[in-house]
Amino acid sequence: MPIRLLPETVASRIAAGEVVERPASVVKELVENSLDAGSTRVHVETRDGGTRLIRVRDNGNGIPAAEVALAFRRHATSKLESADDLEHIATLGFRGEALASIAAVSRTTCITRHIEEAVGTRLHLKGGEIAGQSSVGRPPGTELIIEDLFYNVPARRKFLRTERTERRHIDGFITRYAVAYPETAFAVVHDGREILATPGNGDARAALLSVYGTDLGAALLEIPPELTEEQPIRVSGFVGPTTVHRANRGYITLFINGRWIEDLRLTYAIIQAYHTLLPKDRYPVAFVMVDLPADEVDVNVHPTKSEVRFRDGDAVFRAVQRATRATVIGEAPVTTTWTPPRADDDDAARRARLAALQPSQGHIRFDDTHVGREAVPPAASASDVGREAVPPAASASDVGREAVPPSPAHLPPLRVVGQLAAMFIIAEGPDGLYLIDQHAAHERVLYERLLSQAIQGQVPRQPLLEPAVVSLPADEAGQLGELLPTLAELGIDVEDFGPGTFLVRALPAPLQHIAPADLLADIAGAAEETSPVRRELEAQVVRTICKRAAVKAGQILAPEEQDRLIKDLERTENPRTCPHGRPTIVQISTEALARQFGRG
Ligand code: ADP
Ligand code: MG
Repeated sequence: MPIRLLPETVASRIAAGEVVERPASVVKELVENSLDAGSTRVHVETRDGGTRLIRVRDNGNGIPAAEVALAFRRHATSKLESADDLEHIATLGFRGEALASIAAVSRTTCITRHIEEAVGTRLHLKGGEIAGQSSVGRPPGTELIIEDLFYNVPARRKFLRTERTERRHIDGFITRYAVAYPETAFAVVHDGREILATPGNGDARAALLSVYGTDLGAALLEIPPELTEEQPIRVSGFVGPTTVHRANRGYITLFINGRWIEDLRLTYAIIQAYHTLLPKDRYPVAFVMVDLPADEVDVNVHPTKSEVRFRDGDAVFRAVQRATRATVIGEAPVTTTWTPPRADDDDAARRARLAALQPSQGHIRFDDTHVGREAVPPAASASDVGREAVPPAASASDVGREAVPPSPAHLPPLRVVGQLAAMFIIAEGPDGLYLIDQHAAHERVLYERLLSQAIQGQVPRQPLLEPAVVSLPADEAGQLGELLPTLAELGIDVEDFGPGTFLVRALPAPLQHIAPADLLADIAGAAEETSPVRRELEAQVVRTICKRAAVKAGQILAPEEQDRLIKDLERTENPRTCPHGRPTIVQISTEALARQFGRG
């Protein structure tokens, strides 16, 4: 084929792909435009995960009638005049690409009225081509209606994930902007259901509460503004106390000059600020906003504007890290009525116990099964530990045994010798020494039991004495809402109890000791990588639950509890790995030991 210039329709569709990857990218661009237009109210509505409809309505400045059509041309913007302006961008948009790109891959209607004009305009476009324009009456502001996204790009349509995933991306975006722009009232409605409404009263904490729910929203500590007031790099926002942590980095949000960005280095600065303060493999919750002179940062790095470059990255890194650390360390003792959930107490206790164990690391005693028992610090917590270690309801675990058909013994019969470092169980088998990771082993036991009970529809559920009310961040609440039927099959009775709030009525008998708030947060958090296949989804949820429910490293187990755990493990289908695929057992043969002693 000879070289030739692409027709405009083809070129624009290619270019659109860079900006509009999925429905959430449309929402992002439209909401950014609304904020740039000085709106104090932004209303977002979607249908079918945004593929059928995205409607963003604002009360901003509006677009003058003479410029509406122009706004949909590529590289048409009111936010830049010269190349120099690129050096100090103060608006969220500046590339003049979004409206053109969105219109190219959808049916778009724009209804707008500029504040200084008496009449509004209605413009309709199909695949980027203007299909009609008329005058309309409406209050100042803009409404953009995007229908049938990607109707003319079947390839892109095919790559869209489930509606739930698309909604989650949309919610993830809006919830963050709602916190960063507390003077703007945001509302989100999916398929006719309102999932978020912030007051827009300028109070960031109020926005935080509507977004993250009362538990998490109240727990976060505000970075004191006076920390960086005098500095060129100002850091503000909220960071979690050390009792609040999550399994992944997804709860770390960064804003630079009012723009949500992804930045690995700054994320790391925040994680590092919690160094030694959080349990291993846990991540903080943080909402950190950095403001610095516009010419110190280059936002023109990527079409989606989600990455930036700093003139002095090290200075920003230090500023973020210091402000975070100072806030966490200076943690005000009582900021709210919020009380940490129980499992977090366990984590703290566990850290203390592990710390106590550390000095003796070099030579650990384990030969006497009673040593472990005596090592328990205070009697009261020890009995709690014991109860947690093995499900309290003996009857429940008996039910479990009956429900699980006896499986071929993949492990030889083991004789428990004792516990090591409050983490491993030492056992003897016919062919040598077995070291069993108590947490991994218990995870495996719970996992197989719960899953097989669920498959047979026989999970022994136990009503809570008092139903627990749990509130979750809006985006997570959306995810959890979709999982309720699956949870019911697993013996977790949860009811939708109003926006972002759930009522937990019953838990499976073996999980009685878990704080419902932790359980739901874990499940919603893990839904990130959920499978559309229902059984697989169930297994994923069960894996998450078991991780939380299983006896932890650092828990001292009574000899009977050690025995029971090993017996239970022997009965599982796959005793040698935990549900996440890590080994449960390390085996050392008698010969290998003999060789070590020079006997071989
Ligand atoms: P950019 O935001 O980079 O300028 P867009 O394609 O997103 O480019 O928008 C083009 C122009 O349309 C903007 O510069 C602005 O003047 C106008 N515009 C878009 N959305 C709105 C809105 N919600 N309110 C007022 N003006 C808007
Ligand atoms: Mg824009």
